Amino acid sequence: MAYQRPEVTSGALRLHFNENTAGCSPAVLAALRDMTRADAAFYPEYGDITARTARWLGVEPERVLLTNGLDEGLHLVAQWAVWHSAEHGAPAEVIVPEPAFEMYAACAEAVRATVVRVMPQPEFAFALDGILAAITSATRVIYLTDPNNPTGRPIPAGAIERIAMAAPRAIVLVDEAYADFSGRTAIGPLLDRTRNVIIGRTFAKGHGLAALRVGALVAHPDTLARIRPLQPPYSLNAWAITALGAALGDRAYVEWYVAQSAESRARVYAWADRLGLAYWPSEANFVLVRVGDRAIEAAAALAARGILVRDKSSAPGCAGCLRITSGVVEHTDRCLEALEEFLAPRTN
Ligand SMILES: *Cc1c(COP(=O)(O)O)cnc(C)c1O
Repeated sequence: MAYQRPEVTSGALRLHFNENTAGCSPAVLAALRDMTRADAAFYPEYGDITARTARWLGVEPERVLLTNGLDEGLHLVAQWAVWHSAEHGAPAEVIVPEPAFEMYAACAEAVRATVVRVMPQPEFAFALDGILAAITSATRVIYLTDPNNPTGRPIPAGAIERIAMAAPRAIVLVDEAYADFSGRTAIGPLLDRTRNVIIGRTFAKGHGLAALRVGALVAHPDTLARIRPLQPPYSLNAWAITALGAALGDRAYVEWYVAQSAESRARVYAWADRLGLAYWPSEANFVLVRVGDRAIEAAAALAARGILVRDKSSAPGCAGCLRITSGVVEHTDRCLEALEEFLAPRTN
């Protein structure tokens, strides 16, 4: 099951990718405009930008590997964990707690691993027991997401360490794509205690650099040292690293977008409460809302009006659900108004 790129209608309001729909910081564009002919002609250097990113993350540079989007990091982890510890004859297993970001299964299949799906708990409570029970001697990667996509729900304290200790031969990849919004991270002493934990970060969401492809893996230096040789030597292009440097320098811009997202989520909750729709309080820049039997039709009706949301109704535990990017307040308001017109049209 390869990753399916969602459809995009050009000119539509994109609330189906959890991007920063306001765009990147203006400082990023200014830095890109200053790029020179030599910048295009010479292979990029990563030392300075890695050091700056490490400082921003609060770790030493040896603990950071910049990647061509976090997606590349997800692939590198699967390649290393599966190829370098595969026992002959036994297919490697990759654990994916559902509902999950679709890329994890795609990464597992790219290295011919078996995807072991852990089914959701009521109300998407973290499936710690299910994950622990799914671990076998063949487990090579466990993909966790904190906060989760598409539910926005957090991983409870202590759970990552318990999983990492129960699966010492596996890599536990903790995808923190939405850490800018949750304000939480597992980056810290955990990476020394459990060296099979790797944290994934991206600058695609809060920082608005999705098109430029910038992510990072963060782990104990010994762990990262084994992954580095798998990455092509110039995986991030010069424009991406320049954009990252400028984005890291404009904290106020990300803070603005994070605040917009908090306000947007509050509006989604109030709206859903008023319409009597179930939703899950989210720590990320989106909300999963159960609109009911007509979820597919609702997404299509919105698309016809130029607003794209993600139909999640076929994901495990997500029957009847739409995932709505909740970032820029004005964009959220437009979406909720259009969705209400479809779900509960005023009759007069
Ligand atoms: C968007 C997303 C990513 C992808 O990040 P890129 O840096 O754009 O590759 C990874 N993980 C999750 C959970 C995401 O939602």
